[in-house]
Amino acid sequence: MKKKIVKGKEVYEIDSKTCEEMFEVQEEVRKNTFPKAGGYCASVLTKKGNIDPGVAYQSDTYTLTIHGEASALNHAAIHGEGKEIVAITGPNCHICKQLIYENSLRSNIDIVVVVNEDGQFKQIPISGLMPFPWPSEPQV
Ligand SMILES: [Zn+2]
Repeated sequence: MKKKIVKGKEVYEIDSKTCEEMFEVQEEVRKNTFPKAGGYCASVLTKKGNIDPGVAYQSDTYTLTIHGEASALNHAAIHGEGKEIVAITGPNCHICKQLIYENSLRSNIDIVVVVNEDGQFKQIPISGLMPFPWPSEPQV
């Protein structure tokens, strides 16, 4: 991966082989979404090159449901890499975009959302998906 500095933030360009691996890792865990297999999943890429997957964990209340992206972000945090996330698979719901954006505020990395569009990987920094973001700095 190649690092650039854009508007004071680190932005990483991910090679297509790594993008492919991120989606493979995501697909490997789709059987483990909770409580039923086949739900939403995601994976994150860290500065060290580790790819951590996450699976949706549904609650009967719906409100308490954990999205695959949140699970993947948490997975990286468990390994001590919560502030070293450079990319995440997408597309993502707006709740997850907020969570990704908030992570980028703390890490100073403009996390790249990698989307597989008919076999072509598109990489969009989270700042590009959050035109009027809130907050401007971490609140907690
Ligand atoms: Zn989500």
